[in-house]
Amino acid sequence: MCAPWTMQFTFCRDPTRPVPVSVVVLVADGARPDTLGAALDNGTLPALARLRAEGGLHTVTSVFPSVTGPAYTPFLLGLFPGTAGLPGIRWWDRARADTRWPDFARSYVGIQARHADSDLTPDRGTLFEHVPHSLGSLTPIGRGLAPRNRLGFNWTFALRAAWTHFRGDVRGWLIIDRATSAKVARRIREERPDFAFCVHPGIDKTSHEVGHTHQAVQQAMRIVDDTAARIRADAERDGRWGSMHLWVVSDHGHSPVARHEDLSGLLASWGLGVCSHPWTPFGGPDCAVMVSGNAMSHVYLELQHTTRPYWPELAARWEPTAERLLARASVDLMVLPYSADVCEVRARGPRGRAFIRRTGARYTYEPIDGGDPLGLAGRVDAASPDAAHDACAASDYPDALVQLMQLVASPRSGEMLLSAARGWDLRARYEPIPHVSAHGALHREHMQVPLLLSRPAARTPRRTADVMPSVLAALGLPIPPGLDGASFV
Ligand SMILES: [Zn+2]
Repeated sequence: MCAPWTMQFTFCRDPTRPVPVSVVVLVADGARPDTLGAALDNGTLPALARLRAEGGLHTVTSVFPSVTGPAYTPFLLGLFPGTAGLPGIRWWDRARADTRWPDFARSYVGIQARHADSDLTPDRGTLFEHVPHSLGSLTPIGRGLAPRNRLGFNWTFALRAAWTHFRGDVRGWLIIDRATSAKVARRIREERPDFAFCVHPGIDKTSHEVGHTHQAVQQAMRIVDDTAARIRADAERDGRWGSMHLWVVSDHGHSPVARHEDLSGLLASWGLGVCSHPWTPFGGPDCAVMVSGNAMSHVYLELQHTTRPYWPELAARWEPTAERLLARASVDLMVLPYSADVCEVRARGPRGRAFIRRTGARYTYEPIDGGDPLGLAGRVDAASPDAAHDACAASDYPDALVQLMQLVASPRSGEMLLSAARGWDLRARYEPIPHVSAHGALHREHMQVPLLLSRPAARTPRRTADVMPSVLAALGLPIPPGLDGASFV
């Protein structure tokens, strides 16, 4: 029997009816597996340590580019960013089909963040569309969420976030995280959504500003722990914990950056007309530089073409530029698409060159003249994306074959894809505040992320793209075909 004052609320439940299953995903944006593991071991995150003991902590692979926004498409659509339509946090619209004159450039950093939902492929549903009774907070992707169920997506919040960001206010981000944590826990307690997706940006923001080992990052992780503790305590009190899955995951890692290559300025100094943010309407027409993270960049060549040119037709004019770029200490890997299914990967010096080919589900890595830019110890012939993942697992570039090909295949990608060397990123100007840590690249510090589960997984999770089908499986909903991930539930 409910107390009379609770009768008006939906959480007055008939105790004889089974409690519906629910899934809560907390995103600890920017958390590294080792940073989280150390904090779990030293006892500062008791609620998350309890989850680890009961369910398990896994290290899974994120996506390329390893940057917030694109790296959320696996969580919410079960798709890699190239497949989903978000090839970078900045990209250039060669087809002039989805953006506007005069620059045809997209940046989700700032006012254009609101276009992320409509830039996503319309052919696939988000979790919010599959699960109508959903709640989201601070999520960069919200297609399918009713406005009242999308916390932190309004002008008031945007202005507050911009003010915090441009002042480099580390404490400000922690205040935002704490306030959102309390609000999310209350909404889950009162409204009992089937699916809740709650983002905590504080770990990423503090890592950029003070480094991932700083105690401010520990404070940010404690807020995630508080959120998990509140949600669990409420669910245990209301008899919902037995039917709730509570997962914590990150979208990318972090690593120290000490040197910043001004990639667009560099290309301009070589006599090229360069289009780059924030002055996109005034740049071009030779190339567009669209940086993500900031340790990754798309470079679009010959902007007058509205259909995508591939490297074989560009090489005669652009080979000297490619060689000069690859000679820079800032560039670790250069990827040159030959078609939607073939690319060349280059690294400096003896690491040399290789081709990657995708034929149906098969991935091959073919060294050129003894080169091995990805460090895979020779030729790889993988019969499936999972076999390709496992072939790269011990290398410096987890899931590189699949991640490079999903991005190469995107019609919105550039004609050169650059992954920055350790200690470097690819944007030196127009950053509002100095940063000492970055992400976006293909190497393991940026690509590996933790996945914490409240119950043991039915199989070992591989990728962040496994999260979406696992949510559907946990809720007993059908999993659509053609996803890039597979359920671990
Ligand atoms: Zn970041």
